[in-house]
Amino acid sequence: MANARTSVILRPDIDALPAYVPGERGTRGRQVYKLSSNEVPFPILPAVAAALSDVGPDLNRYPDMHATQLVEALAAHHGTKPERITVGNGSVAVLAHVLTAVCEPGDEVVMAWRSFEAYPIAVQVAGARAVQVPVDDAGRHDLDAMAAAITDRTRAVLLCSPNNPTGPALTQSEVRRFLGTVPPGVLVLLDEAYLEFVRQDDPTDGVALVDEHKNLVVLRTFSKAYGLAGLRVGYAVARRRLTTGFRAAATPFGVNSMALAGAVAALNCQDQVRDRVEQVVAERTRVTAALAEQGWQIPDPQGNFVWLDLGRRATAFADAARARGVLVRAFAGEGVRVSMGEREGNDLFLDIAADWLRDRAGLPVS
Ligand SMILES: *Cc1c(COP(=O)(O)O)cnc(C)c1O
Repeated sequence: MANARTSVILRPDIDALPAYVPGERGTRGRQVYKLSSNEVPFPILPAVAAALSDVGPDLNRYPDMHATQLVEALAAHHGTKPERITVGNGSVAVLAHVLTAVCEPGDEVVMAWRSFEAYPIAVQVAGARAVQVPVDDAGRHDLDAMAAAITDRTRAVLLCSPNNPTGPALTQSEVRRFLGTVPPGVLVLLDEAYLEFVRQDDPTDGVALVDEHKNLVVLRTFSKAYGLAGLRVGYAVARRRLTTGFRAAATPFGVNSMALAGAVAALNCQDQVRDRVEQVVAERTRVTAALAEQGWQIPDPQGNFVWLDLGRRATAFADAARARGVLVRAFAGEGVRVSMGEREGNDLFLDIAADWLRDRAGLPVS
């Protein structure tokens, strides 16, 4: 075969991708509080640990390709049908499968921005183009502007509620109204990664809306409230026809045996999970009140994190926090996201935030 290329060519849009920036990790030997990845600070639940060690000896075998037990447990948990559930190696993987299943080159995917940094990368890998609609001054999705950004090329709209990293959540009424305005041929993905932490009125319940809207896909994860970020399990809930497509686009055996067993065990620990979520929410309430007292104005935090709108001082704040043993997630030029961690870590963060304001009294914020 004739082929004049002297080296392998990467797709130009892949070559141009920004790298996903993970939250900083601590180094061994020094006490650092890792408040940079929205993990919960608790060790895994005993029942989950037991389920994982039970699997160990059988790891010579492939997992159940259809994840039957987990899919059925999720369907029962949500009061929906197994044929509406797609599981994956973290909800980020499920998002990739959803986009792969619907996007063709040149298609557009509308999203709020700033939002989850995995979104534009996933969209670009799927060959589509991210259309970013700025969040408002309060860090909220501008749903009217997002609806207005829909064109003939739009294949999907991504909603993130609560929004990572700014914090506010959509209400069920807002999502319902939005779905009423979106053409039925445009997929709407509602990412509810932090739903368990929401304490506002009229919280979203995406799974309930799947009955009414055949273009809706709801994304959920075991990484946040269930405290299993390292296990990598997430899932989508959508109508059967779409689910069949998402499953077809997925990696075979994409959820490993440990992850399947651990997720099923975690689902059976609702009381303990709820108790831990309450502890995180209590810390969020405490930290939010203390920040307000110090003079910070922060967007309504409905996830397990708070957002400091530091503008061009974001990186300097993260450096100052790191120097005192607290890792936070800086978005250069925009702000800093701080996850709710152990009480001592949160207290240290509050000290750092207070000192920051005191040291800069009189300076403009950005
Ligand atoms: C953390 C997070 C997820 C979860 O991703 P996993 O791949 O399931 O760990 C999904 N969406 C958002 C917005 C998140 O912040």
